Amino acid sequence: MFPERLTQGYRSFIDGRFAAERSRYEALAQAGQRPEIMVIGCVDSRVSPEVIFDAAPGELLVVRNVANLVPAYESHGETQHGTSAALEFGVQALRVKHIVVLGHALCGGIRAFADEQEPLSPGDFIGRWMSQIAPAAESLGPRKPEDGDTYLRRLEFASVELSLKHLMTFPCVRILVERGKLALHGAYFGVSSGRLLVRDPATGRFEPVTDEGPDRLAMFRCASD
Ligand SMILES: [Zn+2]
Repeated sequence: MFPERLTQGYRSFIDGRFAAERSRYEALAQAGQRPEIMVIGCVDSRVSPEVIFDAAPGELLVVRNVANLVPAYESHGETQHGTSAALEFGVQALRVKHIVVLGHALCGGIRAFADEQEPLSPGDFIGRWMSQIAPAAESLGPRKPEDGDTYLRRLEFASVELSLKHLMTFPCVRILVERGKLALHGAYFGVSSGRLLVRDPATGRFEPVTDEGPDRLAMFRCASD
């Protein structure tokens, strides 16, 4: 049976948001989609880019995978590249102007890699997928017992950094970035705090988005992540 939660949610959507935005949906159907921003996010159910950025239909092109990773460019081989195919579509067909790699706190994929967790199935798809971030882990040096979960946070940031590097290995991305027609961004969502950090390209540091007032920042500092 189709989940009742989805039937209820759909009823709410069709009577509410769809009714309110019907003309927008119709225009998008006729003219086609033209999102200017692509987001590469994690499958984590708490980190939905459309929710975090309060996006309307047609505004964000979103691809989600375990731990918001971008694989390095490969021109051949037999691996299936879902994320690379979405990138190709976003960059070449839709001509997005921005690509955001959206990392997040408490990422299960990052933890699975760092803790060297046992495979969940004989295929070990998560283990093989997450092995891509080995260079990010190497950049942090050995994990020390006293680091605790701080190490996981650092690895979450480092893997966003690595994905930004991998994006530049795609010739179509690199060319458009060099021509100033495409911008790459790193961001990080702290689940319980709601805090959004954005990578400063000049320093590589992740800083709160600038339009947040001091009161809101104080609230973030009180939160656990
Ligand atoms: Zn995650």
